[in-house]
Amino acid sequence: MSASLPLLSHRPLRAEIIATCRHMNDIGINQGTSGNVSVRVGDRILLTPSGIPYGDMRDEQIVEMTFDGTYYGPCRPTSEWRFHRDILARRPDIDTIIHTHSMFSTTLSCLRRDIPAVHYMIAAAGGDSIRCADYATFGSQALSDHALTALEGRYACLLANHGMIVLGADLKKAMALLVEVETIAAQYWRALQVGEPVILDSEEMRRVIDLFKTYGRQDAADAGLRHGGLSAPAVA
Ligand code: 13P
Ligand code: ZN
Repeated sequence: MSASLPLLSHRPLRAEIIATCRHMNDIGINQGTSGNVSVRVGDRILLTPSGIPYGDMRDEQIVEMTFDGTYYGPCRPTSEWRFHRDILARRPDIDTIIHTHSMFSTTLSCLRRDIPAVHYMIAAAGGDSIRCADYATFGSQALSDHALTALEGRYACLLANHGMIVLGADLKKAMALLVEVETIAAQYWRALQVGEPVILDSEEMRRVIDLFKTYGRQDAADAGLRHGGLSAPAVA
């Protein structure tokens, strides 16, 4: 009789992580074996394995890890497990981390530039800038330390000469922010080709950050806006 395989934990979440990874490649926001993803599950972390192309990744290769660095399963975790572990430990407000080498964010990171408030949507990343973390070798504790510093009060940062990180409450939210940050990076880069972009001042950004607290909510205050019912009256 063959030995039975241990039951795979969090199977739907593992599948969702892989689907997110493949989606990143499909929309051209990541390539090859670059990038990695993690999701907090209670006092553990699910992480993508190291060096496996997303197209080949299988549910059982997603790695389960405890916060002391012990991992379970047939594959080693992403080489960036330190910053995934350290960010999740520091930030109880988020449960998901995505790291990519997306084109425009990475281009700006090679210039070691923070992204300033060149577009009001930068508020989606939590403030009036997206910082570029100092350079350190991929996978190193120094890189994790630099990323933590750059992410202070933010949901995104660039990693010098490397890529970017976004944080989110779940995979969908992190993915949405990733697309937003990459879009702003592309806009900033394009504007720089023509001249010196105008940066929104801190007073305006305070207003935007305040509006973002209720943006998209049905009960958002808007003086002068009245709800007239579920359908408009027939035109006489
Ligand atoms: P992993 O394949 O180990 O996740 O490495 C990819 C990467 O982007 C390292 O920074
Ligand atoms: Zn990387």
